[in-house]
Amino acid sequence: MSKHLSKYLHRTMDKQAGIEHAFHRTKIVATVGPACDTYDKLLELVKAGVNVFRLNFSHGSHEDKLKIIEHIRNINSTEPYNIAILGDLQGPKLRVGEIEHNALPVVPGDVLTFTNEKLVGTKERIYVSYPNLHEDVKVGNIIMIDDGKIEVKVISIERNNDVKVEVIMGGVISSKKGINLPDTKISLPALTDKDLEDLEFIIEQKLDWVALSFVRSVKDIVILRSKLDEKKSKTKIIAKIEKPEALTNIRDIIVESDAIMVARGDLGVELPVERIPLIQKQLVRKCIHRAKPVIVATQMMESMIDRSKPNRSEITDVANAVLEGADAVMLSGETATGAHPALVVETMRKIIMEVESTEYRFNREEDLKPQAHSPSFLSDAICYNACKIARDVNAEALVGMTQSGYTAFILSSYRPKSTLHIFSKERTLINQLSLSWGVRAFYYDEEESLDDIIEDQIEILKERGFLKQGDTVVSTGSTPVHLHLPTNVLKITKVD
Ligand code: PEP
Repeated sequence: MSKHLSKYLHRTMDKQAGIEHAFHRTKIVATVGPACDTYDKLLELVKAGVNVFRLNFSHGSHEDKLKIIEHIRNINSTEPYNIAILGDLQGPKLRVGEIEHNALPVVPGDVLTFTNEKLVGTKERIYVSYPNLHEDVKVGNIIMIDDGKIEVKVISIERNNDVKVEVIMGGVISSKKGINLPDTKISLPALTDKDLEDLEFIIEQKLDWVALSFVRSVKDIVILRSKLDEKKSKTKIIAKIEKPEALTNIRDIIVESDAIMVARGDLGVELPVERIPLIQKQLVRKCIHRAKPVIVATQMMESMIDRSKPNRSEITDVANAVLEGADAVMLSGETATGAHPALVVETMRKIIMEVESTEYRFNREEDLKPQAHSPSFLSDAICYNACKIARDVNAEALVGMTQSGYTAFILSSYRPKSTLHIFSKERTLINQLSLSWGVRAFYYDEEESLDDIIEDQIEILKERGFLKQGDTVVSTGSTPVHLHLPTNVLKITKVD
């Protein structure tokens, strides 16, 4: 045992803090907004089951976000939690401008004019925040307004660059509503000027994750990665999949990103809605294969924005995401502006835990077998077999160590039956891993002998109430310790 062990034993015991009952392997991401942005409300949400807070940069000021970040960090330093913070960049989201009286009713057959001239919108002309609209759209292209509630078709492109459209599906257009162009290739950059400012803030504040909206190709991720690298930022990237173009490039996007979000809101506007369920299933499967965390997002518990119970279909939606093997499920308006933010998190956690308490386990080991051509083949083989052995010996805990995060992501991707504990000396990883399926992460930076390290880790888990005498533990690690090699050791210990 290392002589420094005592420095890791000072935090509140998890069971004393009353959170052990709340451990759910499928994680919960909650969007912060006016309904939950105080310290007490955020803590209430964490106690109800939140693992990651999402700050949506489409709304609110940096000043407001600073306060929220401070609250979350205070929770992490005073309570036994490692809540991650995710900054969600707006990306090239297109919108109409201000609309006269904030309401413009339109019916099928009406002809409207979109312009890039800044003006208050009327039935005559409506400003659209997209300078290249006239160059990128073609006659016959569909334009959706307000999440697809209103649909128009391009009928002509005028000499003065105005775009005339005919209303196909009517409704009321109000100020600043989003627009989607499902069959147009948009020529805007992946990161707008606003995104670049927000990214600077995210880097300065050392947020754990940054999500990029409307990813179209792997180049978008490469650009974001180079901006992070320039500043030596350790923030990890989530690619939001919400454009049809992203689906044609999905393999490369998954490889280049650190995680994926199935952003069903915009995806359901850009593509026929009936395609969403299978796309979700395929994306979750592909991400598990690449050991990349995957979040299923949007309208999971939508009816709870104003009601105290979810619809039966919403309960099934959350349960299905868990059964598919998603790393995390996400709440948007339900926690940001809804009437019952803590209740919705608690309800979601109960649905997750009910599914997880059954023997539903994915039996995908054959699919996930380590691939001999992979550069990480040997360490993948140790991790894969560690999960198998842990199951065979009915181990109480599976323990991994990581510096890059890789061992944690790969162990998690096998969705092991034993509880998964990850130790790292990289402080940033401790919170980042809150997004990963089943992972509980701990800070630990001793580097004497692997025997001492494994003994310490078991002692820490015992002290925190996760292990007891007689339990079996499967540990992975690497030797020689000081060389920080990929995982190359597997050890079974009986706790005494
Ligand atoms: C979505 O479209 O599903 C989504 C998560 O994006 P946002 O909430 O940022 O529009």
